[in-house]
Amino acid sequence: MKNHSVTTLQIDLKAANFNLNYFKEKLKENTKILVVVKAFGYGSDAIEIAKSVHKSVDYFAVAYTDEGIALREAGINTPILVLHPQISNLELIIKNCLEPNLYSFGILKAFISITDSQKLTDYPVHIKFNTGLNRLGFKPDEVSIITKIISEHNSVKVASIFSHLAASEDKNERNFSLSQIALFEKITVDFKQKIGYKPQLHLCNTSGILNYPQAHFDMVRLGIGLYGFGNDENETSNLKNVISLKSIISQIHTIKKGESIGYNRAFIADKEVKTATIPIGHADGINRKFGNGIGYVSINNQKAVIIGNVCMDMIMVDISGIDCNEGDEVVIFDNQQTVEKFAKDTNTISYELITAISQRIKREILI
Ligand SMILES: *Cc1c(COP(=O)(O)O)cnc(C)c1O
Repeated sequence: MKNHSVTTLQIDLKAANFNLNYFKEKLKENTKILVVVKAFGYGSDAIEIAKSVHKSVDYFAVAYTDEGIALREAGINTPILVLHPQISNLELIIKNCLEPNLYSFGILKAFISITDSQKLTDYPVHIKFNTGLNRLGFKPDEVSIITKIISEHNSVKVASIFSHLAASEDKNERNFSLSQIALFEKITVDFKQKIGYKPQLHLCNTSGILNYPQAHFDMVRLGIGLYGFGNDENETSNLKNVISLKSIISQIHTIKKGESIGYNRAFIADKEVKTATIPIGHADGINRKFGNGIGYVSINNQKAVIIGNVCMDMIMVDISGIDCNEGDEVVIFDNQQTVEKFAKDTNTISYELITAISQRIKREILI
């Protein structure tokens, strides 16, 4: 699709590679790295990111099957783990050489029946255990049944066993994380013994990599860190900013005392106010909750808060006292006006802000 939108998401591939190397330096020499590019590469551009880093990574992961297919269609040959496949996706997974996470008996049996019927051997699968997140995964006491089923079918081979930490970024939950690590160790010792070979083990996401070096196992799963977020200000300051979201001022208005701004007349001027209208709205990922003084942009390095309600395609911001003109640049996020600060001020998290940036916004790749 042609995209002449002026609102642009710049994606700095050099910065992504810098961040990748920053995390790789934290790993032991033989520890592998999987890069998570789900949700369009955390709202950036999964294909551009994957093309840029694939030589330095062992695996990619996506959430859904179609995200994996898009990478294959773009020519990515790296192994791809599909974290959340459904039974209805399994044939497509095989057709596209994707590797499923098998997290329940339903999906395990469904997959084996397909690999058996296609007379495949050793098709790589990944077995996920629930160690406390209570989201996806087998129970710890299901190891015997899983290994029995798999041992009876040589059409699949367990490439890895993994689990996911519930609060790896939260130092107050350290004991809980340590208990998840201990449980994962126990499960995997049991599993390896029963299956008779050694699948790769992996547990850590970005903040797990930073906070639990003892739990890197054979591979780590780097997501948000690649995109420049370390889950606390200190770690983020060691990373480079990958995404910058910029727009321009479409129009400037001077609003008289008593006039209202935007839908539902949510803002009534109690004095003269100068406003700028910016072509980005809730359809682009600027949540309606950021309206009425909560969210803000930066114009000529000055903060301009959103006034009134966020519209579908526009916001109006208060530029009283800011020296600016129609056509001037507006920064929503960059290395100064950071996603993390905005997330904190608007009571959300970086993950939600960046993955909400809609596909309508033009992507500009900086190499
Ligand atoms: C999204 C995801 C990751 C990456 O997490 P980050 O915190 O972004 O590093 C790792 N593992 C699983 C299972 C995930 O769903």
